[in-house]
Amino acid sequence: MKLSQRSQNITPSATLALSAKAKQMKKAGVDVINLTAGEPNFNTPYHIKKAAIAAIESGKSDFYTPALGIDELRAAIANFVNWDHKTNFDKDNVAVTVGGKFSLYAVAQVVLDPGDEVLIPLPYWVSYGEQVKLAGAVPVFVKPQAYKVTVEELEACRTPKTTAIIINSPQNPSGLIYTREELESIGNWAVEHDICLIADDMYSKLVYNDNEFVSLMDLSPAIRRQTILVNGFSKAYAMTGWRVGYTVADKQIIKLINAVVGHETSNIAAVSQYAALAAITGDQSYTKKMRDAYEERLNTLFPMLNAIPGFNLERKPEGAFYLFPKVEEAVLMCHFASTEAFVQALLDEAHVAVVPGSAFGMDEYIRLSYAASMEDLVAAAGRMKEFVEKHM
Ligand code: GLU
Repeated sequence: MKLSQRSQNITPSATLALSAKAKQMKKAGVDVINLTAGEPNFNTPYHIKKAAIAAIESGKSDFYTPALGIDELRAAIANFVNWDHKTNFDKDNVAVTVGGKFSLYAVAQVVLDPGDEVLIPLPYWVSYGEQVKLAGAVPVFVKPQAYKVTVEELEACRTPKTTAIIINSPQNPSGLIYTREELESIGNWAVEHDICLIADDMYSKLVYNDNEFVSLMDLSPAIRRQTILVNGFSKAYAMTGWRVGYTVADKQIIKLINAVVGHETSNIAAVSQYAALAAITGDQSYTKKMRDAYEERLNTLFPMLNAIPGFNLERKPEGAFYLFPKVEEAVLMCHFASTEAFVQALLDEAHVAVVPGSAFGMDEYIRLSYAASMEDLVAAAGRMKEFVEKHM
């Protein structure tokens, strides 16, 4: 049977594949510490679940909803974003989608034509490049000198085909945050060259140690008009399984997303929409509590990882829940041929599952998620240290 070039040209998601593998090993009785996917180890707060149960019991969740979600949820998201960014959106500026991932996919479908180029700074989240390719466009990876791209670095990669840039802050996997000044210069440059700014703000509520998060949506009206905002409920409300993300943009863009979503998924599960409505209109203190826990884990784990021979954490993460140490030296000292071989042996021998940096465009690194219990994190750091010392 003939299969499409397009599908064969796509690399499966390493985060999902490795997470599934670690979960399977655990199910088979292996004592694996799974630090692969960024999946909060918290359950969804109970008031959110209760709203979902009530929606099921009342029968409200039994039917299709509009493709972009129920009006109440779209309006609540618009209010929430307006509160955060002092903007003036209404429900027609909002599309609710199957996770932030599908928001990004739908945006790519709406913004890109075949041959268009999208600037993607390294390190990048696994799915950006593949989604761009699925839209027939071309990912152009921009390697910054120091984790965050500058206008000069972007300008060096700009061509007449450059259509969009994806800015992810706090960044997965490095955990770094773009400052207001950095975003302003990128934003002004994008406005000048009519380049669409795709702001992936998925980790906006997970910021630590007095660092400040600034969104492209906080900047000048011209930059705002050029920005498509993507966010979601998975990380801030521990709702990965519910699959709720959203896009906020100009109404014309949302109309086009409506057409795409109407053919690709219809609405997200109605029950998830009622859960999300309770999340965004209800008590926000749960998000704060989870944030506090992540901060404590970051502050505990950061020095422990830096103490592992050959592990080098150049900059302390400021947000999200990942650590991205450079392990080039450890790989060499332990005589592994590649970071992948190192990661595989770490899983097989020490039963610690992490993601090789190649999934994020930087081979010499590994990514660990600290959305795991403190007990597991401390044990994982100990196992990794022992593993490296044994192989040295
Ligand atoms: N976004 C999370 C991660 O980077 C979840 C898995 C995924 O969707 O890639 O691990």
